[in-house]
Amino acid sequence: MTIPTPPDEAHSKLQQYWGYDSFRPLQAQAVNAVLNHQDSLVVLATGAGKSICYQLPALLLPGTAIVVSPLISLMKDQVDTLNANGIPAGFVNSTQTAAEQRDIAQAVKDGQMKLLYVAPERLCTSRMLTFLAGCQISFFAIDEAHCISAWGHDFRTDYRNLSILKTHYPEKAVHAFTATATAQVRRDIVEQLQLKTPEVHVGSFDRANLSYSVQARSDMNSQIDEILARHKGESGVIYCLSRKKTEELAEAICAKGHRARCYHAGLTELQRTRAQDAFQNQKIDIIVGTVAFGMGIDKSDVRFVIHTGAPKSLESYQQESGRAGRDGLPSECILIYNRGDFAWWRSTFADLPEDATVIAENNLARMESYTLSFECRHKLLVEHFGQTYPVENCGACDSCLSGAVPSTDSLIIAQKILSCVYRLREQYGVAYTILVLLGSKDKRILQAGHQDLSTYGLMKECDKSSIRNWIDQLIGQQCLVASGEYQQLKILPRGRQVLKGEWTPKLSESSSTHSKKAKRVTSVSDLSVEEQELFEILRSLRYELAQEKKVPPYIIFADSVLQQIAQTRPLTMEAFSQLSGVGVKKLEEYVPLFLPVVKDFCQSKGMKGDEEVTLASPAPTREQPKMTPRLAKVLEHFDNADTFDSAVTKIGVTESTAAGYLADLIELGKIANAARFVEDDVLDRIQAALPEVGDTRLKPIFEHLGGEVSYNQIRIALAILRASSAVNELSNQATT
Ligand code: ADP
Ligand code: ZN
Repeated sequence: MTIPTPPDEAHSKLQQYWGYDSFRPLQAQAVNAVLNHQDSLVVLATGAGKSICYQLPALLLPGTAIVVSPLISLMKDQVDTLNANGIPAGFVNSTQTAAEQRDIAQAVKDGQMKLLYVAPERLCTSRMLTFLAGCQISFFAIDEAHCISAWGHDFRTDYRNLSILKTHYPEKAVHAFTATATAQVRRDIVEQLQLKTPEVHVGSFDRANLSYSVQARSDMNSQIDEILARHKGESGVIYCLSRKKTEELAEAICAKGHRARCYHAGLTELQRTRAQDAFQNQKIDIIVGTVAFGMGIDKSDVRFVIHTGAPKSLESYQQESGRAGRDGLPSECILIYNRGDFAWWRSTFADLPEDATVIAENNLARMESYTLSFECRHKLLVEHFGQTYPVENCGACDSCLSGAVPSTDSLIIAQKILSCVYRLREQYGVAYTILVLLGSKDKRILQAGHQDLSTYGLMKECDKSSIRNWIDQLIGQQCLVASGEYQQLKILPRGRQVLKGEWTPKLSESSSTHSKKAKRVTSVSDLSVEEQELFEILRSLRYELAQEKKVPPYIIFADSVLQQIAQTRPLTMEAFSQLSGVGVKKLEEYVPLFLPVVKDFCQSKGMKGDEEVTLASPAPTREQPKMTPRLAKVLEHFDNADTFDSAVTKIGVTESTAAGYLADLIELGKIANAARFVEDDVLDRIQAALPEVGDTRLKPIFEHLGGEVSYNQIRIALAILRASSAVNELSNQATT
């Protein structure tokens, strides 16, 4: 028996089931850890692709992988996605009937299930443990593993019991996955799960496809209108600080024609489930929620997340804004804040025990600093989580895009403001300090005698909004803090350094730092008018299919796939099969439904479609095919068939899929007398055409032969020539 070398076998499964060409950073390492039965902890940002790290090895290893997942909705989504890709997976939870649960149990027992999803509370029951003892388990995967840590933001007591896994199954590997970054949580996960010398893989925390911006709240409704206008018909989440606010805002935007619903912990369970389902199934586009919304959401095509108030920590902000763009497409995160938000949060800390207050204050200060800062937001977020951000200008945040350069007078401006705060004995708030700096004749100032201070009128040549903005920036750079009942400005140690000239803050001349929008490099609006039209047609087809299949639309095809279809207009199965995200199952199941729509569109518009794919990104270099179980299976049909057509009928797939299989088998040298599968003289014609075309892609050859030889025939012929190395010589010539 030959033992499959993990990376190769894993690679071909990635292609076959998910339709992806290559692993993303750290996925291969994570997959290998699982294949090697080595305990592991994998920390990857949201959307970086954690699921494949355990789903793929589950396919390769004998037995069933047990996946612990915290929420029913998450499990269902994952299982639907797996099934749509042709992978046998299931879950057990309370939404199922006893009969359904029995069926699943039987399938696991019979070894027909590659992955089984369960909630931690169920997994840890003695009944479940006894049942699993009689099954073949490949490994345990703990999704959202930070839930085990009290330091994490989603601590769940049920997760604590998972420590018994290593007691009950000491010989089984346990693999933990999370997006939560702090070192403390990481240590806690390893300890609680009792992982044995785990391989730890920590990816970059940067979410490169997200753009960040911050706006000061002025007229919130029109600020929101403006954002929604650039996201027409797209999915988004709007976070509010209070339940009441979610209701008001949802109503207001519905009145303007958006499809939105509110979500908060005060709704009944049924109301919440309905809102969540409507969002997941594309019946509504926008959820206006409190932070109670989100944990159960695995919707990958959220294009924008708006915060209408500052959250209480940068961790929360990263988590909530991170729900945007899980599919890797450009998405936008906008924070609309008001200075009062911070005061409000501080007032809620009053009831906390003392240590907790210190932590909460500290977290809030970091959030405040992010909000008011003038530095790259990607950089601030990444550095907050202890990594470095090497990029000079991210090109995807308001700070970097504003192009504003720090003033050469930064030190002097800062010193003027700080010394005024100092002279005012740190007893006054922002507005008053500004009045003093401007030399105002306000009654309060005169009564207090502050016109006699040396800093009175020190900045009278400046305008009020500039000074306000500079004070914000000083708060952002931790020189000042506004605290206490009246939000009095206090000088922090770094501010004292500034006063002594030991540290220079970066203050921008611009008085509108926070009104700039981060440029949105968005997918759909980057499409041409026709592409967008086709995208919409594809989207509604997807919606109908989703309704029919009772799954969320993105399970059929992600937005990224629809976008590729709209851009390349593939007209053959072959061309479709090259799109990223189209695996064998989807190719067979959905592409026959999408193909005619693309054809019709091309015809009605008089546009050319693509027989082959010409995406902007360079085509991956051609790789040698690899033997897969699927190929091994179809091999005998080809062996026993005289013609291509008769083999196609036996295998029961489309001609184009069969041609792909056959071509691979020929190249692998598995087919004797392969010439019987091509029509007379096809081999000769193609061999003659190759030097003239100078290209081994199907489309140029097809065109050169005036469309007289089908794509399938060309493909098979090329494989025969490759096997005899005639084509490789040509490719080598072409590249030298
Ligand atoms: P996470 O759990 O880390 O938030 P997911 O596992 O949900 O992320 O993956 C996010 C998206 O990226 C999914 O649509 C997934 O199919 C896609 N994806 C994962 N791995 C790859 C890959 N190697 N190539 C292309 N897309 C991928
Ligand atoms: Zn930036």
